[in-house]
Amino acid sequence: MNEATKTKGLLERLDEGPVICAEGYLFEFERRGYLQAGAFVPEIVLENPDLVEQIHREFVHAGSDVVEAFTYYGHREKLRIVGKEHLLEPLNRDALRIASTVARETGTLAAGNLCNTNAFFPDEEGRAKVRAMFEEQVEWIVDAGMDFVIGETFSYFEEALIALDVIRQAELPSVMTLAIHRAPEVREGWAPDVACRKLEEAGADVVGLNCIRGPRTLLPLIKDVRAAVDCHVAALPVPYRTTEAEPSFQSLTYPGCDCIPGGRPFPTALDPFTCNRYEIGEFATEALDAGVRYMGVCCGNGAHHTRSMAEALGRTPPASRYSADMSKHSFLGDNEQLKEHNKAYATEL
Ligand SMILES: [Zn+2]
Repeated sequence: MNEATKTKGLLERLDEGPVICAEGYLFEFERRGYLQAGAFVPEIVLENPDLVEQIHREFVHAGSDVVEAFTYYGHREKLRIVGKEHLLEPLNRDALRIASTVARETGTLAAGNLCNTNAFFPDEEGRAKVRAMFEEQVEWIVDAGMDFVIGETFSYFEEALIALDVIRQAELPSVMTLAIHRAPEVREGWAPDVACRKLEEAGADVVGLNCIRGPRTLLPLIKDVRAAVDCHVAALPVPYRTTEAEPSFQSLTYPGCDCIPGGRPFPTALDPFTCNRYEIGEFATEALDAGVRYMGVCCGNGAHHTRSMAEALGRTPPASRYSADMSKHSFLGDNEQLKEHNKAYATEL
């Protein structure tokens, strides 16, 4: 595949229709017991590479058009915190190779990933530090022959801008998404539509929002973004029922959650807020109607969410073979072969 073909891949697909990108690997592996909440470092890439490859395949099976390399929080700052800075390069290179392998085999797009460093501060030292971190990661992304780069979860606009600049120097297409916390603005104080417009002007191919907010509190902001830019727009909420009063998943609370260490449901006790598959399907439909073409679900995503999103967009990924058919249910079904006494039992459920 030559450079020109790669450059066309994502943008051509977006011109033709929606593109789904499954995310949320950190939360999913944490739930499965292979990754620690707190540091949230994707050490599993080195410890259990087969599981990473498997989860990529599961999400493609469920309808993802993109295989995103699992390097979220796999940057120098995070690895330093867990005392494994020396594993930075092998972790990144392995994650990229695994994602690329699955993408090539399944005809999906291979994406590299840059994310918030939590090391950024808008001064000379902060700028230089994150630029160096992004440069080394993009070098590995280029070596791996990825189709495009996702720069995500930036709450500092300027950090996103530095990531974008590094991606553009490598001449790779970019999807740049900002993280909007409780206040509906980036750290610089600009509304998401203003910040996304600036990213577009700086040369981003796709702009939008990811993580932090659930469908209900992300959608209004993404509609403003759609109205403010000419390029394709990305929307990847977390699958949690955030509200106007508690618009981010960090701000969610519920009475009687005293058993949770620290008393805050984020990030390990968000279960009662989880969107069901139909709510995610509804989000996909509303996002598409609003003009969003690049969509997915971030932290908390499960394969059933991705499948539901794909089906809401009119697709039947391989996993749709097992989508619910309640006509076959022992008690609730209306299938002719089911026993009448079981059907009668349904009234007692
Ligand atoms: Zn996320």
